[in-house]
Amino acid sequence: MRLTRNALAAIALIGVPALLLGTPAQAAKLCKLEISGNDMIQYDKKQLKVGADCTQVKLTLTHTGKLPAASMGHDWVLVKADDMTAVASDGLAAGAANDYVKKDDAHVIAHTKVIGGGESASVTFATSALKKGQSYKYLCTFPGHNALMSGDFTIE
Ligand code: ZN
Repeated sequence: MRLTRNALAAIALIGVPALLLGTPAQAAKLCKLEISGNDMIQYDKKQLKVGADCTQVKLTLTHTGKLPAASMGHDWVLVKADDMTAVASDGLAAGAANDYVKKDDAHVIAHTKVIGGGESASVTFATSALKKGQSYKYLCTFPGHNALMSGDFTIE
């Protein structure tokens, strides 16, 4: 095959790095995060980070306590920092039957169900909904918990 000078230049500029590095924008990468909650209304982490190259995040919440979900339930809800108060109050209104998350709440990026002691729950979500530079928070929406159970979620 004969290539023009321009075509060769284009391959040199674009083609070779793409071949060497692959196509990061399209390569799927599942990143796993873990967090736990206890009977003292505490998460074990005040901050969670994911790399900018993660396309999907699987978050697993474990309840390390002994109390049941009805009295010491925990969930993990990801929101923009500015939406935290609204999501917590809407969750309270939604009640236990909805895992304290308003149905189809556009402010909720991802959430697990509410669990009790000894249980765990996971949620997998795409990072395409997240923007670098935006401040995100996670919280427990069980009544009265968000003041003690929240943290910063960061894209590196
Ligand atoms: Zn909780």
